Amino acid sequence: RSKNDGKNQWLMFNDQIKDEMNRLVLIESHLRHAFDYEEIHINFQPLMNSQSNQIRGFETLMRWQSHKFGAVPPDVFIPVLEQTGMIVEYGEWILRKTVQSIKQWENDGDNSLIISVNISLIQLKQESFPEQVKAIIQEADIEPASLELEITESVLADDVEKITNVLHTLRLNGVRIALDDFGAGYSSLSYLRQFPLDTLKIDKTFSEDIESGIESAQMIGSIIDMAHNIGLEVVAEGIENSDQVSILKSCGCDYFQGFYFYKPMSKESAERLVRGW
Ligand code: C2E
Ligand code: MG
Ligand code: MG
Ligand code: MG
Repeated sequence: RSKNDGKNQWLMFNDQIKDEMNRLVLIESHLRHAFDYEEIHINFQPLMNSQSNQIRGFETLMRWQSHKFGAVPPDVFIPVLEQTGMIVEYGEWILRKTVQSIKQWENDGDNSLIISVNISLIQLKQESFPEQVKAIIQEADIEPASLELEITESVLADDVEKITNVLHTLRLNGVRIALDDFGAGYSSLSYLRQFPLDTLKIDKTFSEDIESGIESAQMIGSIIDMAHNIGLEVVAEGIENSDQVSILKSCGCDYFQGFYFYKPMSKESAERLVRGW
């Protein structure tokens, strides 16, 4: 090895960082104008009742169709929105859109749907968040229990006392709270007990594992039992085939979400689906 190897590696690494930073800066600058160019959209993915096969409701998902980059995945642009604080504005936008769609469905006579929207930690930590949610619900005059806010496990690890208070306030206003991506992190169900939650969404890595053998099915079965014991409804995410459906059904899972049933779709398609049901 020559003495220069290390130095060259550093230079290469440095270039990578620069590329990465340039990429983020580029994404950020385009994201700032995404609204004005009408590049931000909302999609709806159905959640199915495991027993009746009826639609429980939808999860709304943000989409960025950039004129420059094409369709940018949320896993790429949501972190940028979070790092720049833009998630506060974009998050309020999708929350309002979600509540509008609940109102529309209520007007059409479908008032049993539950519509979930993802909320990031940065939004939750805004002092005004619970008031904002309350105001949006009251303005639209919807049934608060039709709205479910999805938070991830990492939120619960942040400032436990503060987050618990925020969740309690939200729930006092009648809104539902779901814990998203359960199992992707490290929290146990006994830890979750202290938080006011309504729904547990089991991460898709679990749904993938379940086919690998009897043991993982037993484990997921006991997670579902424990969740039921502390009063939570259980959704399995990322369902892609009928084997997963039958195993999870026998484990007592309440709801399914995944490509096996429906992929995320436009608002028009979601409306058609509900009407045709
Ligand atoms: P999430 O909240 O866990 O949303 C579920 C993700 O799983 C969605 O990815 C959905 O398209 C995908 N999915 C659903 N069924 C299947 C399946 O059967 N197989 C596979 N492989 N994937 C499936 P998406 O839309 O790419 O969103 C990724 C993440 O970005 C979301 O995960 C959520 O954490 C975040 N996100 C999306 N929209 C928003 C938003 O409006 N606000 C915030 N804060 N985060 C959002
Ligand atoms: Mg979610
Ligand atoms: Mg999820
Ligand atoms: Mg996820």
